[in-house]
Parts: sequence; structure tokens; C-alpha cells
Amino acid sequence: MALNKKNVENLNVCGKRVLVRCDFNVPLKDGAITNDNRIVAALPTIRKLIENGGKVILCSHLGKVKTPEDKARLTLAPVAVRLGELLGKEVTFACDDTVVGDNARSAVSAMNDGDVVLLENTRFRAEETKNGEEFSKDLASIADVYVNDAFGSAHRAHCSTAGVTEFISGETAVGYLMNKEIAFLGNAVENPERPFVAILGGAKVADKLNVISNLIEKCDTLIIGGGMAYTFLKASGNEVGKSLVDNEKLDYCREMMDKAKKLGKSLLLPVDTAIAGAFPNPIDAKVPADYVASCEIPADQMGLDIGPKTCELFAAAAKTAKTVVWNGPMGVFENPTLAKGTIALAQALAETDATTVIGGGDSAAAVVQLGFADKMSHISTGGGASLEYLEGKVLPGIDVIMDN
Ligand code: AMP
Repeated sequence: MALNKKNVENLNVCGKRVLVRCDFNVPLKDGAITNDNRIVAALPTIRKLIENGGKVILCSHLGKVKTPEDKARLTLAPVAVRLGELLGKEVTFACDDTVVGDNARSAVSAMNDGDVVLLENTRFRAEETKNGEEFSKDLASIADVYVNDAFGSAHRAHCSTAGVTEFISGETAVGYLMNKEIAFLGNAVENPERPFVAILGGAKVADKLNVISNLIEKCDTLIIGGGMAYTFLKASGNEVGKSLVDNEKLDYCREMMDKAKKLGKSLLLPVDTAIAGAFPNPIDAKVPADYVASCEIPADQMGLDIGPKTCELFAAAAKTAKTVVWNGPMGVFENPTLAKGTIALAQALAETDATTVIGGGDSAAAVVQLGFADKMSHISTGGGASLEYLEGKVLPGIDVIMDN
């Protein structure tokens, strides 16, 4: 069970070589880091390991390495410099094209306790994403202990996130960041304080099929807004005009509504909707949005946000909760006129005493962009990983870590 993983707090690392999988997949422009949030987020785990006398060997992927030419652009060298500044100590960068090459081996053998080495981008090795044995063995050969602190990559079984643990001789643990994700997402889904209200939005039903199904089983109330609501509205017999509809998923939506009914779960859909004649182009273009009842969307209009009555309905439901998990915006939040539903819901969550957990990706972006980040209990750092967690899947990068 994910809630019971060994973590870095009590790990014995003194004098040991500790390989730490971080998420240093930072945005770069012309070789410069444009946002160092991910590096900052990794500091507590790194500092703890330094403090406890570990020899700290860091690794991460950065971007997608498709051709050898991508390597010059996707080196982790700028991360070593920034990390050194943030830690206030030297970070030795081992610039091996093979990630674990002569530079890495000699840098590691020269380490004293508390020193830090950063390896080159793990995706420089093609086997990384295939979980190939040779690279997993190479990584394990320069370390005694393994720590995974990269939640955003935990849904992938790669050499640096999973395979390496088969060959590591010593203990394995999760870092502080990963531990926080497990504590919030894991508790919300596996052991929520009730009532548990789950809120789903975003573009398409097809992207969240298993999330919908799993959350209906786990939550007390499921709220559906955003683009995906129109497929549910159509499946319940409403005309939805030109709104985003996934016609192949109408039966699926009916099945989910039946499932909720059978399990005695409440499933809420928008009762009114902001409409416009076309999707705004550019996305933040001025739109003359009107509001109509969800069952009265004209044939030549599309629903692009939840309306004020729905905001009240959803906010009231959210305010009854002890635990709320939210994934996906309620409308086209990138447009100020169509962000009102997402803002209203974020506001409602900001005002509750409930544990509020925001899934990664667009919902996290919306909450941050709209200024509510510090009002939420937890904003997940992993888009794909948090969705898979909400689907009830076992994430390989967590599964491979020793239990406590
Ligand atoms: P997702 O990545 O699935 O969470 O979807 C997020 C995207 O859904 C955002 O870019 C929103 O603009 C978009 N979205 C939200 N509501 C609607 C809607 N009613 N129609 C079309 N797109 C929407």
C-alpha cells in the first residue's frame, strides 16, 4: 500500500552513496532556466541527506531526447549551477553522454560525506524509458541507497524511477516531495475523511474514463463540470448545441450515472452554462458570454463555462466536504470571461476547512494562475501521475520502494 512507504526522514545514509531521482525537468529558454520551482522543491530532501552525511548523487530527466542533436539543448549543466547557488555549496556536474561514465565514476569515488554530484540527463540513455537492465545496473553500480523524489515521473517504469531498485544493494525510500504527494493524494483516495467530494472538469471525458469510474466508488459526491460535462448532459437527454461532446462516450456516461445511482452516490452536473457562438480565438479573446439553463443550449451555441446557479450548487456541495479532490477546470479558464466558474469553485475551496487536494496539470495551473495556491492543502506536482493515482492505479515509482 502506497501510504506505508519508507521515507527519507529515518533513512540511514551516513557515509553511504545515495542515488536520488529528482524532478529537474525545468523550463529552459536559450539554455537559461526560466522557472526554478522544481529545483527549489527538491531542496528539503537534498539538504536532509547532506545533513545526515550521505554522498548525494542526483539524477533526473530533462525534456524529450529524440535525436543526438537534442543533447546539447537538454543537458542538466544549468541545473547544477542553479542548484549549487541554492544550496550554497558546490555541485559537481558529471557530464557523461552515457550518464554513468568515467566522469560520474571518478566524481563519485572522490566524494566526501555531504558532497553533491549531479549526473547528466537520464534520457541521454535510450534504455531509460524502456526500463532497460543495463542502464539500471549502471545507476545502481554507483550507489548504495536509492531515494525517489520525482512524483511527476512515478507513473512511468523507467530505469531511474523503477528498474534501478532491482539492483540497489541497500535500502530504498521516497523523498519529502513524494511523501507529501502520497500523504495527500493517497489519503484522499484510499482513506478520506468523509464526506469526500470529488470534482472533475477539463476538456474530454475520454481522458478521464478510469478516474470517473474509480472516484464514483470512492467519493460521496462527484461533481462534473468543464468540457466533459456536455457529454454527460447529452447522455441524460439534453441538447447541447455545438458544445464539446464525445459521441462515442455517451453510453459510458450513462453507465457511470447508473453506477452512481446504484452505489447511492450523488453525481452533480451543471444546471446552467455560459455560452458563445464559437470557441474564443485567441483563447483570451473577448467573448460575449450569455448564460442559459443547461437544458436550453441553442443549436448554434457552445457551453464554455458553468453558470452562476451551478457555481452556487457546486460551491454548496464542496462546502459540506471534509475532503475535496479537484482535477480539471470548470470552463475555459484561460479566458477571463469564462474563468468565472473555475474562480468561484476555487474560492469555495479556499473558504472550507476541508482538506483540499488539487490534481496536477491544468487544475494546478488554474489555481496558481487565479491566485488561490496558498489556500489549498496540497497542489500536486504531477499531472499524469496524479491522474493515474486518482484512477486507483499502482504507480511503479512508488510501488518499488520498500515498505516501512
Ligand atoms: P484537461 O487538460 O483535460 O484538464 O483540460 C483543460 C482544458 O479544458 C483547458 O484548456 C480548458 O480551456 C478546457 N475546457 C474547459 N472547459 C471547456 C469547455 N466547456 N469547452 C472546451 N474546452 C474546455
